[in-house]
Amino acid sequence: MTMTKKDIRRLSLEDLRLFFTEQGQQPFRANQVYQWLWQKGVHNFEEMTNLSLETREVLQKHFVINHISVDQMQRSSDGTIKNAVRLHDDLIVESVLIPTKTRTTACVSSQVGCSLDCTFCATARLKRMRNLNPDEIYDQVMAIHQESLLYHDRPLSNIVFMGMGEPLMNYNNVLSAIEKITGDQGLGMSPKRITLSTSGVPKMIKKLADDEVKFHLALSLHSAIQEKRQVIMPFAERFVLDDVLEALIYWYEKTKRRVTFEYIVWDGFNDTDEDIRALVHFCKKVPCKVNIIEYNAIDDGAFKQAPAHRVEAYTQALEKAHIPVTVRRSRGNDIDAACGQLANKH
Ligand code: SAH
Repeated sequence: MTMTKKDIRRLSLEDLRLFFTEQGQQPFRANQVYQWLWQKGVHNFEEMTNLSLETREVLQKHFVINHISVDQMQRSSDGTIKNAVRLHDDLIVESVLIPTKTRTTACVSSQVGCSLDCTFCATARLKRMRNLNPDEIYDQVMAIHQESLLYHDRPLSNIVFMGMGEPLMNYNNVLSAIEKITGDQGLGMSPKRITLSTSGVPKMIKKLADDEVKFHLALSLHSAIQEKRQVIMPFAERFVLDDVLEALIYWYEKTKRRVTFEYIVWDGFNDTDEDIRALVHFCKKVPCKVNIIEYNAIDDGAFKQAPAHRVEAYTQALEKAHIPVTVRRSRGNDIDAACGQLANKH
């Protein structure tokens, strides 16, 4: 009988202590191993140099480390880096390092492909293959942290869950990855520097609030008019805006953290004064800020970025209503690393 070895990073520190005790070894070894696995991010047991050869062999015999490997790294002329990341079962996801003057942000994936069907997003063309495990999410962050040190001479400062997939449809694994990222046993990063972006799953937004998470929340809104939104985000027929709004109000009441609305303005689709009024009206119902993002064309050209004066009409109306708004330029377009362009092209 062949036994498939267990991925050691599925074990908690407690599990690992128990393992060592069962093996007749000192349980404190677990702490050393845990540090190698999470803080140092080793890819194999040989690298655990403060363990005896015997201990390393015991580990080798029982476990594997399903570490990701960066298959291909592309660097954009603006400093953005895109990693094509190979998982242990040979599936590929992408993650992106986005440098600005003051920050280095990691944009990480939560699923292989995506189960949602936004018509403007390249990732939606891929079938959802599976959820990522907590360690696979953690590894993407670590890889970018190391690239940030190497190429930008500074540590990673922020993380956004805006890569491939819908993080709230992989709730447990995403939260457990964040726990590791923010924990003392992991990267020790402040949750205030982490933003989870969702297409809007009301029940799960409420669950986030109930679970008292400490990170930020963003919603990909794109239209505050239900009938319009469900044209470009068909799944929104089931997750209607009224319910999303109710969940966001619940989120704010519990967390006191304002949500960010991501919004693309498309030429001839949502660029009328009526669209603007609907957004302002929506924003008045829950403390928020608006992030207008540039549309990145994907192959078929069905959508087009609205001209600057229409974007300006949006910002003026929002500002007049005292709703904070920023317009974000896209990064990494030359390597298909910008929002909505992640689709494993290589
Ligand atoms: N499913 C989550 C996480 C993915 S985030 C969510 O939708 O929030 C990816 C972000 O990029 C979302 O805000 C999405 O609306 C946006 N996006 C998708 N396609 C895009 C495109 N072609 N150009 C610009 N932004 C896009």
